[in-house]
Amino acid sequence: MNKNQEQWKIASRYLPGGVCSSARINKGLGSPFYISRASGGKVYDLEGNEYIDLCTSFGSALVGHNHPKVGAALHEAIAMGLMCSYENEAHARLAQRIVEAIPGIEMLRFTLSGTETTYYAVKLAREYTGRTFVVKFEGHFHGFNDYLAYNYWPTREQAWPNITPAVDGLPEYLQQGVIVLPFNDFEAADETLTRRGHEIAAVILEPVNINSGTIYPRPGYLELLRHLTAEKGIVLIFDEILSGFRTGPGCAQAEFGITPDLSTIGKALGAGVPLSAFGGSRKIMEHVSPLGKANHSGTFNAPLFSMMTGNAFFDIISEPGFYENLLGRCQRLYDGIGEIMKRLQFVGRVQHFGARFSFLFGPPAEKEYVLNYQDMIDNQWGLLNRFYKACLCHGVYIHTMQHHGISAMHTDEDVDRALEGIEAALRDVMAEGRGDESGAAAFF
Ligand code: PMP
Repeated sequence: MNKNQEQWKIASRYLPGGVCSSARINKGLGSPFYISRASGGKVYDLEGNEYIDLCTSFGSALVGHNHPKVGAALHEAIAMGLMCSYENEAHARLAQRIVEAIPGIEMLRFTLSGTETTYYAVKLAREYTGRTFVVKFEGHFHGFNDYLAYNYWPTREQAWPNITPAVDGLPEYLQQGVIVLPFNDFEAADETLTRRGHEIAAVILEPVNINSGTIYPRPGYLELLRHLTAEKGIVLIFDEILSGFRTGPGCAQAEFGITPDLSTIGKALGAGVPLSAFGGSRKIMEHVSPLGKANHSGTFNAPLFSMMTGNAFFDIISEPGFYENLLGRCQRLYDGIGEIMKRLQFVGRVQHFGARFSFLFGPPAEKEYVLNYQDMIDNQWGLLNRFYKACLCHGVYIHTMQHHGISAMHTDEDVDRALEGIEAALRDVMAEGRGDESGAAAFF
């Protein structure tokens, strides 16, 4: 038994599945992948073996693992007494930097997890509008906030037009408040928002549906949602927890030139430390107590160490050439993967949004345009899981989720090593021949 298996056995005695987050089971391995340390663009297993990390803490390590400026910020927080439940200049400073960077945010509140963030954003929208219903899109993930945990990655039988809870244990009455729509379907959005707009509090979406294969909005689709929500007084929420900061400081909303009423951001922002935020127009944010009636409080809100790393994050992404270098390296990876697949005559491709990307194997890769989650149901999950496992054997760590990425600390050499590992892994799975391609898109 290797150290990973030994650790899994020990951890499983005390932690369900041997992990602290169900998604940390790596479906390719059938177990968690335990890490002894991380540095820059690399992670090390319990035996000290080195891997190029294409998981990047599920997108949180955008600036890299243990960036020196992040380490220095943490030391400073320790020197200041590691306080939580108190506030100082660091809080408003970080808030100001977010407001200056993101078009749709004039005021904000800090939270820790993305789940918590989308929960507060929806509650605020309900309080602001006095309405109940929330529209969400199939295949769009917003954390395990019960209000939105529907049609994350349903089977074809469970999929839209059915509304299917993504987890067990939700009270049936919660489902009464949710409307699920297929992404990129102009008619469905127009019909629903026109007919039921008066009872809808919010429309929430990932502006790029990274969680189901990095699916882009069709030209004009975000514009349509913006137009209809404005007309009907509905709060438009962009969940940018994953898309945020992948292409630039202004997030996806700046890329597409569409300003939502509320935004949720997280992951990359904390540079490896828990930090998220919800924010939006002053008019809506003034409904947060003590200015308004929407409460948002918590002992652990905005602890100093998160404020310090959040400010370090902005220092790092403001360095000259930060995004040029990052995006150039991403392109090197994406071009390289495309070239390998072509050379091996492998039916696959990657779809990417800045520093985050997804693998499409088989049927969806053959489509000219992947429109929404239903086009992704036939992705070859079994083959993908075998591929990810093979990558690990060739020194590249890719988690079995639908999104992967590289960080600003990955070097050209790291990218080249990742490409070598990916090519070797593809050769392995091709040599093995076809196996069980079935499996679910859900990662938990
Ligand atoms: N929203 C989106 C778009 C996400 O991708 C995620 C996490 N992958 C969440 C919300 C939930 O964030 P967290 O894991 O921090 O709760």
